[in-house]
Amino acid sequence: MPKSMDQIVSLCKRRGFLFQSSEIYGGLNGFWDYGPLGVELKRNVRNAWWNDMITHHDEFTVPAGAPREFQMTGIESSIIMHPQVWKRSGHYDLFADMMQSCRHCKKLFRADHVWSMLSASPWVRSFAECFGAGVSADRINFSSPEAINWSRDRKRGQKLAPALALVRNPEITLSGLAEDLQNNPELDLSLPQLLRYMATEQKNITGLQVPCPECGGDLTEPRRFNLMFETYTGAIQSDENRAFLRPETAQGMFVNFKNVVDSMSVRIPFGIAQIGKSFRNEITPRNFTFRSREFEQMEMEFFCHPSESRQWYQYWRDRRFAWYQKLGIPGGNLILRDHAPEELSHYSVGTADVEYAFPFLEAGEYGELEGIAHRGDFDLRSHMEGKLCKGPNGLELEKNADGSPKYKGSGKDLSYFDDQSRERFIPHVIEPAAGADRATLAFLCEAYNEDKQPDEKGELQERVYLKFHPKLAPVKVAVFPLIKKEGMPEKALEIYREIKAAGIAAVFAQQAAIGKRYRRQDEIGTPWCITVDGDTMTGDTVTLRDRDSLEQIRLPVSKVIDEIARRLRT
Ligand code: ATP
Repeated sequence: MPKSMDQIVSLCKRRGFLFQSSEIYGGLNGFWDYGPLGVELKRNVRNAWWNDMITHHDEFTVPAGAPREFQMTGIESSIIMHPQVWKRSGHYDLFADMMQSCRHCKKLFRADHVWSMLSASPWVRSFAECFGAGVSADRINFSSPEAINWSRDRKRGQKLAPALALVRNPEITLSGLAEDLQNNPELDLSLPQLLRYMATEQKNITGLQVPCPECGGDLTEPRRFNLMFETYTGAIQSDENRAFLRPETAQGMFVNFKNVVDSMSVRIPFGIAQIGKSFRNEITPRNFTFRSREFEQMEMEFFCHPSESRQWYQYWRDRRFAWYQKLGIPGGNLILRDHAPEELSHYSVGTADVEYAFPFLEAGEYGELEGIAHRGDFDLRSHMEGKLCKGPNGLELEKNADGSPKYKGSGKDLSYFDDQSRERFIPHVIEPAAGADRATLAFLCEAYNEDKQPDEKGELQERVYLKFHPKLAPVKVAVFPLIKKEGMPEKALEIYREIKAAGIAAVFAQQAAIGKRYRRQDEIGTPWCITVDGDTMTGDTVTLRDRDSLEQIRLPVSKVIDEIARRLRT
């Protein structure tokens, strides 16, 4: 059975993974709080990334697929940086989405999201259904009487799309379409085109309108809207004190490039990694944590010689894809999509996205988890020379009308001198930029499973379980006494304390029947449960139950920690 986002959102709230921010005041759109289990899950995602990038990296060995060995370092830079950083990076001028607002309900939408929101909107689905079509149909068998019936129906048009031109004024709205059909019987009657006609009362004056996904009202033309959150440093709210919450962590690595080279005696090729909060005033935050206004990124800037940059790009593209697979997203739900040339940023030689089939998307659609970009020398040169733009001969300094630089650079030399080849050059950069919240959400969605398992009486019961990779599971082991007497609780508590002292996340539970306790652990994705029973008291052995196979083995109490540590390593 396909999983629905509602089931996942409800489990997340019920079992303490994710809550709406400031929920007691009605929540704040685009902001989320991680609960007691969510904070552990997300920490495990971050640790898996940091360990893979930094802690477990061996700079003396050439990893499979890499052109050669390399060094890795980490930093943690401030969230508020010098405002000039964002002028050089392009965010000040370019980090803007085109947005449209509804003239009736005043809601804001990102222009490039309007069609996907329309195709998910209840009124559009209901409208398409009245012609026996789905939202992805190529051509609609349109009939005016059906459209009028729909527009007058209190449960359909009147209720779902009260501001749609067709609902407010059906005769005039349909006359525009009838006129065009008379002049051109081959008129495009795809759903998007038909919806534009249904949103337009006076085509000659306004042209065809785009309807609002919420109420059907007409949308304004797309306008630019900067996504950076503004703030002020110091007491006075003046232009000189205006600053921005960072919209990405990457700039922290570029402005610290020289500091890291000088302080750590690293040699190119090497990477600088960072995990931290970023902020974007998204116009339409939606789909749970997928598009939030405050989120966490896991980014790495890899500096290399220009002649090797394509090989490194290929390496990081493949390695980052494999990371998600290793942590439990195998098969068709994950894809690596190369950007088409027209999608590339002006400085990029190549970009690929790791994408996941989130349950809130239509079948066959994928949402971005991470972008891996070949950024050339754009970033370091922009911070040296000033903001760059695309010119006839590659990147060049962006100039004002009088020929002066639009934004001057820092003037600092960010080139690299290779003392072995005696060559000075500006390194090229490969950037794998991932979102910790999107990765956590993808792992949660992928882990969500339902099956039927026999209870103590042998009757089949519905089971919901999260099939997390053990490395990501918030709790690794649950320890239970079978019953609350005969010394079992004391023995179980002793084992629980030893497991915790070994640094393994564990819980202890003695309330409710054993089957119920197993199911509660399955629901939060605990991979193993240890039960203390009568045989423990006589033979010093316990049972260890596996969440996925439900297999139970007996093992000596003295082997429990080794066995769990072994399973966690594999
Ligand atoms: P999108 O096209 O979805 O807006 P993007 O291409 O702008 O994303 P990047 O600037 O490449 O995203 O940021 C790198 C990563 O940061 C993304 O792949 C994603 O995982 C994460 N990310 C970006 N914006 C958000 C957001 N609003 N909420 C949660 N995560 C985000």
